[in-house]
Amino acid sequence: MAKKKTIRSIPQERTPMREQAPQARAKNFEEVACGYGLEEALRESERCLMCPDEPCISGCPVGINIPAFILKITEKNFRGAYDILTDTNLLPSVCGRVCPQENQCEGVCTVGESLEAVAIGRLERFVGDAAIREGWTNIPYIEPNRFKVGIVGSGPAGMACAADMAKAGCDVTVYEAFHQAGGVLKYGIPDFRLPNEVIDAEIDNLKKLGVKFECNTLVGRLFTIDQMIGEMGFHAVFVGVGAGYPTMLGIPGDSLNGVLSANELLTRCNLMRAKEFPDYDTPLPMGKRVAVVGAGNTAMDATRVSLRLGAEKVYCIYRRSRTEAPARAEEVHHAEQEGVEFHWLTNPASILDDGKGGVLGMRCVRMELGEPDSSGRRRPVPIAGSEFDFAADLVVYAIGTNANPIMGQTSSLKLNKRGYIDVDENLAASVAGVFAGGDIVTGAATVIEAMGAGRKAARSMKAYLGIRDAGLPYLNRSGTGAGTLFGIDTRERNFARVRVA
Ligand SMILES: Cc1cc2nc3c(=O)[nH]c(=O)nc-3n(C[C@H](O)[C@H](O)[C@H](O)COP(=O)(O)OP(=O)(O)OC[C@H]3O[C@@H](n4cnc5c(N)ncnc54)[C@H](O)[C@@H]3O)c2cc1C
Ligand code: SF4
Repeated sequence: MAKKKTIRSIPQERTPMREQAPQARAKNFEEVACGYGLEEALRESERCLMCPDEPCISGCPVGINIPAFILKITEKNFRGAYDILTDTNLLPSVCGRVCPQENQCEGVCTVGESLEAVAIGRLERFVGDAAIREGWTNIPYIEPNRFKVGIVGSGPAGMACAADMAKAGCDVTVYEAFHQAGGVLKYGIPDFRLPNEVIDAEIDNLKKLGVKFECNTLVGRLFTIDQMIGEMGFHAVFVGVGAGYPTMLGIPGDSLNGVLSANELLTRCNLMRAKEFPDYDTPLPMGKRVAVVGAGNTAMDATRVSLRLGAEKVYCIYRRSRTEAPARAEEVHHAEQEGVEFHWLTNPASILDDGKGGVLGMRCVRMELGEPDSSGRRRPVPIAGSEFDFAADLVVYAIGTNANPIMGQTSSLKLNKRGYIDVDENLAASVAGVFAGGDIVTGAATVIEAMGAGRKAARSMKAYLGIRDAGLPYLNRSGTGAGTLFGIDTRERNFARVRVA
């Protein structure tokens, strides 16, 4: 029998992940973090104590059986690790790269109380990437039922809901406004953090489940949600359209040429491949001195994309201090390493006109932190007489996004005061048969939370349609009595495991 591990007996240091050098990577769109190799993954997996109370599982929004998949890695059974991951998580390669693990599973890892937490995300990525390389997929035999389900939006929320409904036997069609599926994973998060091939490989698994994708389809314009339910024969619809409507600051100079939202910059660069201009016919304003306003993940992506597009100077302007920055610490660190100049406690007052309708620079004011506001963060207060100007030719706003009003304008769905879709605790919207989840319900959140919402909505949809559900969709833990695969009770009549590759 294996000797019980203790905090003293495991490798004390977290296994580092190789990265491209900052100077080299700031000039290319290759992935920054190279991922673990075999030896590194095996070493890191040894750091898991296999704690009996498994706090990491509850720290994961989709309840991945983390110790079980890590155990499989220690046994060098990587396919087994993949099987466990895909019991609950559709996108291990994506989540291993972009989930804020430090606030989720790793944030509650027991090892983290004395040493650095087990690198759960890196191990998840290792297994997910092995699956892509080896072509592994887990496709169940699905007995079709008579239900037709429509999914609006192909981001992580829509994909997770589509997967669960397809596995339950429904005929699922995903409608996507853009020409490619993937949501923010595709149009927002740049290749150097999440390569498009990784997303495509994981979307292929959905297609193998029988999910159909209809791109270039803006629901609300081509047809409405009410028509989907009333005329197009859908028995249920999930709305996962995200919250991609940009916010502008509303200061003088907002409408100058050379002021754009981070979403526009990132979409042009990532989805429309402006970074490969002229091979791709997408224009993108190139700034020599770029000021990005905001300090969330989107802002970090915008600063780092600007560097890679050839900017000589990139500034990040944020009205609070580094401690309050909403971006993952790792992203801020990477941006700093690559040469982004951070101006904390600095607020834009106006954008200066170059006299030809373009941007000459920015006028900012220094801030200090006052009393905490309703969010619990200390409120930034302007310091009188501290205005200063600096030169810039491109200004990018990354100060948050809102719900696109199109859903509210074109359907009878009830919205809340902030314009997001109003749902009950089961994610049912105000129209019978319509469910919603992800950023369009919560406002901007995370990939894994959106996936968790998609899965929860699928469960409610099954109840609404009268499809039997195991009631245990998230966990495949010992002691539950039943095994689940992809979150489906393996005792279900229409379910059998078929390993196709
Ligand atoms: C630049 C950026 C970086 C981020 N980085 C991270 C990160 O590192 N880690 C993390 O966990 N989270 C990150 N996030 C947040 C995360 O990506 C989102 O919370 C998540 O993608 C939300 O998923 P969703 O499915 O609700 O919506 P989205 O991913 O926004 O997908 C919605 C989809 O619906 C489509 N759509 C919209 N309206 C319609 C319509 N009318 N008809 C048809 N289709 C429509 C959109 O085109 C889009 O493809 C980031 C977000 C951004 C913008
Ligand atoms: S909390 Fe950390 S050490 Fe404990 S089982 Fe989870 S990953 Fe392993």
